[in-house]
Amino acid sequence: MNNFNYDVVVIGGGPAGFGAALASARQGAKTALIEQYGFCGGMATAANVSVYANFPAGTKNVASNIFNEFTTELIHSGGAYKAVNAWVMTNPEDIKHLLDTMLCNAKVDLFYHCKLSEVKTVEGKVTSITAIGKSGVKFDFTARLYIDTTGDAEAAYLAGAQLQAKLDAGSYQPMTMICTLANVNIQSAVKAGAHLIDSKYLFWGNGDDSLNRIVEIAKSNNEWKIPRDSLAMLWSDPRCPEVISINGTRISGFNGCDSYSLSQADIEGRRQVRFVVEFLNKYVPGFEKAGIIKTAAQIGVRETRRIAGQYLLTEDDVLQCRHFPDEIAMSAYPIDVHKSNANGVDYHDLPHGKCYGIPYRCLLSSVDNLLVAGRAISATHNAAGSTRVMPVCMSTGEAAGTAAAISCRDNIILKNINITLLQKKILGLILG
Ligand SMILES: Cc1cc2nc3c(=O)[nH]c(=O)nc-3n(C[C@H](O)[C@H](O)[C@H](O)COP(=O)(O)OP(=O)(O)OC[C@H]3O[C@@H](n4cnc5c(N)ncnc54)[C@H](O)[C@@H]3O)c2cc1C
Repeated sequence: MNNFNYDVVVIGGGPAGFGAALASARQGAKTALIEQYGFCGGMATAANVSVYANFPAGTKNVASNIFNEFTTELIHSGGAYKAVNAWVMTNPEDIKHLLDTMLCNAKVDLFYHCKLSEVKTVEGKVTSITAIGKSGVKFDFTARLYIDTTGDAEAAYLAGAQLQAKLDAGSYQPMTMICTLANVNIQSAVKAGAHLIDSKYLFWGNGDDSLNRIVEIAKSNNEWKIPRDSLAMLWSDPRCPEVISINGTRISGFNGCDSYSLSQADIEGRRQVRFVVEFLNKYVPGFEKAGIIKTAAQIGVRETRRIAGQYLLTEDDVLQCRHFPDEIAMSAYPIDVHKSNANGVDYHDLPHGKCYGIPYRCLLSSVDNLLVAGRAISATHNAAGSTRVMPVCMSTGEAAGTAAAISCRDNIILKNINITLLQKKILGLILG
């Protein structure tokens, strides 16, 4: 058995976990990050969702400091570019390397290849957690505070924290297996209607009639085999523009918190990818000679468990662009819920130029020393359709990490920390 002691232990190295661990360490807390894969990035790297949806409120960028630092560096180094609507398109290998570098520079201890397996609690507090490493070796961690950024509220679940009512597998948003093709002729695709960004990158999606018309031709020939209306998005890799990733499959009825169900979803995802490639090769100009070079390491999971925190963010809060005295992150991203049992997406834009706030209370679980950030925060199914995007997850992660460090330093329990101080540290640039 290996025993480790930290001020703060962050579980899960996706956008939220990265934000949380970096913020915590930079604020002076001795911090560890536990991640089941050999790299950080979460869905952006493991599921190849390498597209950060940083929607502004009018012209105002509402992402927190760390997200802006991270994307500025990525763009500067050639590992990312901006496409329409403030989408930041990235190279997953650049993400992995930059996240390693930023976390190591901040002296976060990284425990890759470690999967959370057990959480011990006494009287409503986490006393230790255990992660399983290679060869079945157990790693035991004690800490003053724990941050669950697994996306699936794994630590909260194992700690017995209050969760929102479980949905049937068929009621969660569908999953998507993202695939990547090489050897695409960008100019031909652009002549057929794809956007050309910075004179070299392709960007195309179901918001474009040109793409949807091609899909309709395949449908009329009975050669559209994918259970969705159209392909959601196609985008060039920043390093190799003729390498295109495609968000185009739709896998419904599986449970992202069940290994067997998740395995079936992976298999079905790879099966549907074959249909995507057949369609592109046969129908879409520029893709005639394109070949598949990879499917993502894991299927992209949009929705699983969420905590029932001290406040439940609602659809009304999002659409009314509500603000809160204890808000610690902001978002201008619409409600974007992929329908579970029917085709299409429930999409509701926010009023132009506005954003809403996410209260700190959405991160406070019913377990005293356990914060939750990212996809599993306390928000309803529809509100989470907005809060789930990666810039927002990174912002709630930054808030959780900063809050944890303040709590350790000032020796104050999480729910009593000085919110004004927290807001100053993380929202400084937004508040001006
Ligand atoms: C198909 C698809 C398309 C999307 N499109 C976009 C988009 O265009 N733009 C956008 O901004 N967002 C998009 N999203 C949403 C976004 O990717 C996720 O909601 C976001 O990544 C969630 O961040 P997170 O940090 O909460 O969790 P995740 O990104 O899921 O990261 C969680 C991390 O925790 C690790 N982990 C989980 N369990 C354990 C455990 N037991 N032990 C150790 N480690 C563990 C995982 O390996 C992972 O690294 C999309 C999502 C999907 C699925």
